[in-house]
Amino acid sequence: MWMGYMSKPSDFPVPNEIGNPLQHLIDQYARSYTLRYGLAAIGMFLAQVPQRVPALVVGVALDAILFAEIPYTLPLVPDGLLPTTTETQVLFTVGLLVAAYLLDTGLNWAAGWISGTARYWTLHDIRVDTFDALVTHQLRFFDDRQTGDVMSVLNNDVSNLTQFSENAFRGLGFLSQLLVAFAFMLTLHPRLATLLLLMPVALALLSRWYTTRVEPIYEEVRESVGQVNSRLENSIDGIATVKSFARENDERAAVEAVSKDYRDRKWSAIRLRLAFDLSSWTVSSLAFIGVFALGTYMALNGAPALLGDALTAGTLLTFLLYTKSFYQPVRQLMLDVLDSYENALASSKRIVAVLEGDCPDPAAGHDLQGNAGKITYDTVSFSYTGADEQTVSRVDFTAEPGSLIGIVGPTGAGKSTITKLLFRFYDPDEGTIRIDGTDICEVSQRSLREHLGYVAQDPFLFTGTIRENIAYGVDDADQTAVEEAATLAGAHEFITQFDAGYSTQVGECGESLSGGQRQRIAIARALFRDPAILILDEATSHIDNETERQIQRSIDVLAGDRTIVVIAHRLSTVRNADQIIVVEDGQIVERGTHEQLLDDSGTYADLWRVQVGETDAVSDSFLDTTVSNRSGLDGETDEVVR
Ligand code: ATP
Repeated sequence: MWMGYMSKPSDFPVPNEIGNPLQHLIDQYARSYTLRYGLAAIGMFLAQVPQRVPALVVGVALDAILFAEIPYTLPLVPDGLLPTTTETQVLFTVGLLVAAYLLDTGLNWAAGWISGTARYWTLHDIRVDTFDALVTHQLRFFDDRQTGDVMSVLNNDVSNLTQFSENAFRGLGFLSQLLVAFAFMLTLHPRLATLLLLMPVALALLSRWYTTRVEPIYEEVRESVGQVNSRLENSIDGIATVKSFARENDERAAVEAVSKDYRDRKWSAIRLRLAFDLSSWTVSSLAFIGVFALGTYMALNGAPALLGDALTAGTLLTFLLYTKSFYQPVRQLMLDVLDSYENALASSKRIVAVLEGDCPDPAAGHDLQGNAGKITYDTVSFSYTGADEQTVSRVDFTAEPGSLIGIVGPTGAGKSTITKLLFRFYDPDEGTIRIDGTDICEVSQRSLREHLGYVAQDPFLFTGTIRENIAYGVDDADQTAVEEAATLAGAHEFITQFDAGYSTQVGECGESLSGGQRQRIAIARALFRDPAILILDEATSHIDNETERQIQRSIDVLAGDRTIVVIAHRLSTVRNADQIIVVEDGQIVERGTHEQLLDDSGTYADLWRVQVGETDAVSDSFLDTTVSNRSGLDGETDEVVR
């Protein structure tokens, strides 16, 4: 059975004290643009008055022009000011229609302009702050989530807010439209207008039914969008591995499974929407037919007692035009606005979880003083899962300033984890780590990391030139300093062989370079910052023997004035170390110099013998130990530098 893809939980919990996360975002971010939002809302509302005028005026004009006995009257306008002859009434009506159009267009344009700036400025602030919060999260946050999920917070979720803000403004316009139209109808025929109120009430009840049912479905849809993104990213990122294992069909099956899940969930939401659409259209059509039937009856036979006055043909036309014009706004209001509200609510939960999830660095104001580079681990224990089984257990050692420390041990022993704790990518569960006597938890993470240089096992190169990668984070870097760092890292020679030299572009993630070249650029990047402490995590694993010797010499040169911690599978890399620490199952099992450890004839001595090919001299107890547990070290036998 194919087991390649294990979905991690995509959990973005919102802190309890935050009630409605969308409201929270509006409070936090829209406040600074209150004036613009206010002006835009007023403009939007006022624009509805001229927009509703044509239906009213046309009804009045038709009555007056076609039926001589009906006077030309308009609500709120004294009769003395209105024209009395048919010709002037026609001209006056045309003039009113043109004026209403101009006013409506002008107000709508101004409201759109002002609300547009307010909305897009607000969303820009949210996106930048969310990214800012994201990069300050501890690595644990990223461990627990898929990259696709995290990316979709910045892409899809912020876009959903954009969509909602657009619809919300349009919704406000629709609402104003309804209010103004009802106000006009009330002046024409109050009782019929009141009866017509049943239509929005029925639509509101329908929308309530719709939103309560669609909300949980939208939650699921969002979750499956994240899963589709993650799945696609996984397959494309690992395409070389997929092809080399000929697993294209499995990948296709996995993509098909998550895509089907998304399709089914989205289809449930769409089915519900279609049902709502149909029922709201029915309500609206019934209202239109009802107004026509009742209105015609009232125009021909007079109104029943309960409905007050009779209806003129012009007023009936105005009512029909308004009733017809209600459906679209009410439908838009209910579907688009409420739909995008549900989406935005789900999205804002994830955005707020990112914004508020991690505590800010409590020691942000305190900088790490001194630059000697003494490292002390004081009975440090740590577990990734918080469970009893510890990845690092009671680790205790001191690295003097300028010393070279080697950490060796089998795969999965906890070597990298020990150094990750030094960077505070994770905090120890027990014990203390000090640099130059200061507990690293009491200083800002930024100042701590400025003291540290790190070269990872599989270093990441950013899209850009080699120079930009070496001088990462420094604008206008001095070329001499870049070249010095590259020379120390053994990278200068191959860089200058490229046509564009230091200006050579490295592709996304540095694919256009070999593993060894990427590693040397990463070492140069770490050296460029001239940190007091340098961590090389298997940094020489992709490098040939000659280059390793070159880096070895550089390490020796560097070792005089900075502390270097080298995690090594090749024991030859750490042969000259001042202290070698042997880690097994998260614990330090041996420590000393290369010679001392060989004299002790323990695990290190056996590992050394395996690597230099003296397998006959290896102790029986070592051979008894699970071979697979030591696989990370066994594989190096042929390549050892002697
Ligand atoms: P290697 O030599 O293969 O790089 P290592 O000695 O550096 O191994 P670590 O990478 O520190 O070992 O891992 C120690 C243990 O912690 C392993 O069992 C690993 O699976 C586990 N581990 C590492 N990173 C995480 C993580 N982010 N979440 C949970 N467990 C992890």
